[in-house]
Amino acid sequence: MKQCKTIEEIRKEVSQFKREGKTIAFVPTMGALHEGHLSLIKLAGSKADEVVVSIYVNPEQFGPNEDFEDYPRQLEDDIQACKDAGCTIVFTPDDEIMYGSGKKYLSVQVKELNTHMDGGSRPGFFEGIVLVVNKLFNIVEPDFAVFGQKDIQQVQIIRQMVKEFNHNVEIVMAPIKRAEDGLALSSRNAYLSQEERRVAPYLYSALKRVEEKVNQGLMEPEDMLELQREELKAKGFKNDYLSVFSFDTMSPVNKLEKGERYILAGAAYLGKTRLIDNLILDL
Ligand code: AMP
Repeated sequence: MKQCKTIEEIRKEVSQFKREGKTIAFVPTMGALHEGHLSLIKLAGSKADEVVVSIYVNPEQFGPNEDFEDYPRQLEDDIQACKDAGCTIVFTPDDEIMYGSGKKYLSVQVKELNTHMDGGSRPGFFEGIVLVVNKLFNIVEPDFAVFGQKDIQQVQIIRQMVKEFNHNVEIVMAPIKRAEDGLALSSRNAYLSQEERRVAPYLYSALKRVEEKVNQGLMEPEDMLELQREELKAKGFKNDYLSVFSFDTMSPVNKLEKGERYILAGAAYLGKTRLIDNLILDL
């Protein structure tokens, strides 16, 4: 496995792959890699000849009061984990490489798809993601890019970006990797105290309980959602959202219909840690 720190270095490698007629699958990450990330890298390896992983904590997707400074960074361990998971190139740019220091005259805007869910709670978050993924796609020029269902709004917005900006890449969504007790793996789980870690899986349990009722025929789940919000609150969570959203537009839905697909998603704080999780409801 090779580490590239500059755009010139990685472009050279990518050009060589293309000359050899090899396909490239790309996994963008912010590091602090766990089994969830590694499952994406392995899936990437099953899709293409070469796997490129980027590790970059993108400042543009953090709000002023968010955890950019504290975000876990463990580059040496991550590089080893990438190697073990079958990655061929790890791209580890710094801020100067990704954004330079010159004045910026252009920006991207995301409309409507970011009004609810995480976009609603984190202004500028998806603009930051679209900006960096757009840049990374132009640098890596992958045939496939793998993203986790854990961040399903991100997957849907990136799919739209690919469509509107004509990126020649197939987006692959990988399932959520969970701990044995159901908690979705996340780099931010490292912030949880022992007691918070014990309580954390209840977010997933709440989603599962709503899913169960919907599978039994509940088509207007608001009361059930409210019950779960109350239960999470009683367990010590500070709720952000827990709702059903349209799969395509990610706006909230009160009445479900047979034959449709929805996202049942929740976000809640335990102490200072923001947890997110979701399930796809395929009716
Ligand atoms: P991040 O480093 O948090 O930006 O995540 C990098 C990629 O890993 C994103 O596509 C995430 O959706 C994905 N990811 C994060 N956690 C998980 C998980 N538990 N299972 C599967 N994919 C995940």
